Amino acid sequence: MPATPAWPPKSLPRLYVATPLGAGVNVMLDAAQANYLGNVLRLKEGDRLLLFDGMSGEWLAAIAEAGKKRMMLLVGEPTRAQEVVPDLWLAFAPVKKGRVDWLVEKAVELGVARLLPVITQRTIVDRLNLDRMRAHIIEAAEQCGRTALADIEEAVKLDGFLKARDPARALYFADESGGEPAATTFKPGPALILVGPEGGFTPGEASAIRAAPNAFPISLGPRILRAETAALGAVAAWMTGAGDWQ
Ligand code: SAM
Repeated sequence: MPATPAWPPKSLPRLYVATPLGAGVNVMLDAAQANYLGNVLRLKEGDRLLLFDGMSGEWLAAIAEAGKKRMMLLVGEPTRAQEVVPDLWLAFAPVKKGRVDWLVEKAVELGVARLLPVITQRTIVDRLNLDRMRAHIIEAAEQCGRTALADIEEAVKLDGFLKARDPARALYFADESGGEPAATTFKPGPALILVGPEGGFTPGEASAIRAAPNAFPISLGPRILRAETAALGAVAAWMTGAGDWQ
């Protein structure tokens, strides 16, 4: 008995649109998206694709009108409900451009809800192009099947971050100088993982973080990991113990 083909077909292209979606809604794509569907994927009128708006789940749509630089889509039936995003935020000291793009992309794939760039004393990169980060967030969500977009905040200095932080959200501080094993320290509930820069936190910064309310230093094993590796390792451990990988 041949297997029932998956619905919607996994092969359908998937696009994020800022227009609130619903059955019967018309969506005018921007020039870049119209070019991508029309000239890169060579889709034509009647062809179908999947859309999400970050709020109302995923929808099936069809190309209603296809012009050289514009494309109008007609939204049909819902195909998936809005995902329940695990309540995990990732605060990270920015690393070099290519690597921070990779970190953002992978954090979205792993299911992180919010990204918080934190400038520490040894942070080399102190400015982040948020528009470029948002483009990476959208692309990663389109590719990994997410229906929600991770939020990303403006970069803040560590002391401002510690002052503004809501102590009800547990702060898991990746400390290469020693902490409790991550897997046994993570508890269900709102969580925030903090990872340092390539040069690590200064002793003063480390003690200020350790002194913060509801903060837990975690170890990610005996090896010194690169900052982006440590961030993703910690996120994966949290997803396993307290997230949606259980
Ligand atoms: N300062 C360190 C050094 O040069 O010896 C290295 C810092 S490490 C490259 C960057 C960040 O990753 C650290 O600040 C920490 O947050 C995290 N990290 C790396 N390895 C870790 C480990 N084994 N346990 C916990 N956190 C780790």
